[in-house]
Amino acid sequence: MNLIVAVDIGGTHIRVAVYEPNSIIPLDHQRTRSHASEAGVYERLVQAIEAVWPKEKVDAIGIASPGPLDPYTGTILATPNIPEWQNFPLASKLSKHFGVPVYLDNDANMAGLAEWQYGAGKGHRDLVYITISTGIGGGVISSGHLLQGFHGMGAELGHMIIDPNGPLCGCGYHGHVESFSSGPAIARYVNKQISIGQNSTLQADPDLTAHQVADAAFQGDSLAISAFERAGHYLGIGVANYLAIFDPSILIFGGGVSQVGDLLFKPFEESLRKHTFHPHYLDNLIITKAALGDDAGLLGALALARMSSQG
Ligand SMILES: [Zn+2]
Repeated sequence: MNLIVAVDIGGTHIRVAVYEPNSIIPLDHQRTRSHASEAGVYERLVQAIEAVWPKEKVDAIGIASPGPLDPYTGTILATPNIPEWQNFPLASKLSKHFGVPVYLDNDANMAGLAEWQYGAGKGHRDLVYITISTGIGGGVISSGHLLQGFHGMGAELGHMIIDPNGPLCGCGYHGHVESFSSGPAIARYVNKQISIGQNSTLQADPDLTAHQVADAAFQGDSLAISAFERAGHYLGIGVANYLAIFDPSILIFGGGVSQVGDLLFKPFEESLRKHTFHPHYLDNLIITKAALGDDAGLLGALALARMSSQG
């Protein structure tokens, strides 16, 4: 096994890092902006990879990117922050340029893969990873394999329908888990309740964040507390569905909103117990926080490239 170059394409930055075999500490790393209004994202990505490209042999490049994308052809179908990448054959372009295989998958799947290989889920065979931030994403390891699906679009856990008449989701459909329990969904709910006259220490504000709602909840604001109770309630319904499908031994929560702790997870666990159709699913089920933080995407890209280049 030789070196691996891993790439994490984030909302504001692209990170690139080089790893030795058996190590998750990068030898070298670079970051460049991925911002929408700036053209030439691909060219900047190539430059960032060239800047870290080692003298030693590189086995492969692994990439974690927001989707939707096709991991089997290495094509970005569309990605919200980089409008110029429509049906963009990222893997084949980079493979031609650098002369090594390039493997690509979506960022939430890659974070789940990283937590399984290097983080909180080591040693488990059935793992469900859920990231809660501006959206809700998922990654699933089932019977010791990364679940990708026929189109490579498996494990979109945030877009499971909880209530078809529910709030509008970021994806344009209604009532998905994400439309109830993501950070913006929590803030939107608070704004709506204030607009219909509910008392709160918070002011109606289109830029309100879940972080601000959490601060108010910690100060005892009852609307803010109820916003997290509601988010936890619906998250529990979503996860009860995931248990029925995947029957995991561990649930791992990542993303900024999951940092609020009991505020979300107490109502979540109550709802999960109430909505799981058989209590045996909960026996010895571990519910824990992600261990890898901001490095999860990068380390998932590393794990994908290592596993794929070993055949
Ligand atoms: Zn959705």
